[in-house]
Amino acid sequence: MNDTILEVKDLSFRYRGAKRKAFQHISFDVRKGEFFCIVGANGSGKSTLCNALVGLIPFYFEGRMKGDVFINGKNTKESSIAELSSEIGLVFQNPFNQLSYTAGTVEEELAYGLGNKGIPREEMKKRVAKVAKMMRIDHIINKNPLELSGGQVQRVAFGSTFIMEPEILVLDECTTQLDPLGSEEIFDIVKDLNKNGITVIMVDHDMERVARCANRILVLEDGNQVAIDTPEKIFGNPDMVAHQIDVPDYVSICQELKNRGLFKGEVEVEEEPTIQAVKEALKV
Ligand code: ADP
Ligand code: MG
Repeated sequence: MNDTILEVKDLSFRYRGAKRKAFQHISFDVRKGEFFCIVGANGSGKSTLCNALVGLIPFYFEGRMKGDVFINGKNTKESSIAELSSEIGLVFQNPFNQLSYTAGTVEEELAYGLGNKGIPREEMKKRVAKVAKMMRIDHIINKNPLELSGGQVQRVAFGSTFIMEPEILVLDECTTQLDPLGSEEIFDIVKDLNKNGITVIMVDHDMERVARCANRILVLEDGNQVAIDTPEKIFGNPDMVAHQIDVPDYVSICQELKNRGLFKGEVEVEEEPTIQAVKEALKV
C-alpha cells in the first residue's frame, strides 16, 4: 500500500490562448491501491489535471506545462499516450468525447484501443465479452455507438478505458449521464476494482460518496491546491465550506451536535457512516 504509483511534481498548465493557468503548483503522490479523490468547484481545474495525469497534456492539448508527472517512476513526457494507456486510463467527463466515431458497433468501439496495441483476435474477443458483461452492455454490443443513450455511452466509455487493463483508473465525474441507480451500479464496480488492487483517482461532486470511499482527498480552488488529506481531516475542517466543498450531511450534523456540547466523540468517516454516526451522536 505504501509504494508510490503516481507522482505529480510542481505541475502547472495554461491552455494556449488562455489568460490564466488552469492550475498551478500542484504536487502530490498516489500510492498503489489507493482510492484518491479530487474535489473542487466548477472550473477549479479538475478535468485539466486529469488530462495531465494520463498524458493528454502535453501530448494532445496545446498549452504550456511546467513540472512533471511520473507513473511508476517514468516521466509522462518521455512516454507516449499509447504506452501510458496500459498503465493509466481516463474516463472522460463527457463520454461523447471518448467515442472513436469510426467504430460501427459497441463491440468495435470497445476493441478500438486494443487494435492499436496488436492484441491477438481471440484475446480481444475475450476481453470485450468480459468488459461488456461487467458494464452491463452485452445486450447492445451490436448497436451503433451513435444511437445509444447518454447513460449507455457512459458505460461504453468506461468499458473502452478499462479494457486496456490499466493499473490506475482516472474517473472524471464519470456518472453524470446516469440515473442514481445506474451511478451506484458503476460506483460499485469501481469499488470492486479498487478492492482488487486497481488504483482509483476519482473526480466527483457527490461528497457523501467521496467521504465514504476516499483514502485521501485533494481539494482544488481556482487551480490552486488548497488541501490534501484524509476525509476525516478534510470534512472535519470548517474552512472547507469556504472552498465550496459541501460537507456530507452526517458530518455537519455531528459538528453541530458537537458545537452544542451534545456530542463528545470524533466525527468519523467510515464505510456506512450516516446512520451510525447520527445514532452514536444522539446516544450521548
Ligand atoms: P473543472 O473540471 O474543475 O470544472 P476544468 O479543468 O474543466 O475545471 O477548467 C479549468 C479552467 O480551464 C477553466 O477556466 C476552463 O475554462 C479552462 N479550460 C478547460 N478546458 C479548456 C480548453 N480545452 N481550452 C481552454 N481552456 C480550457
Ligand atoms: Mg471537469
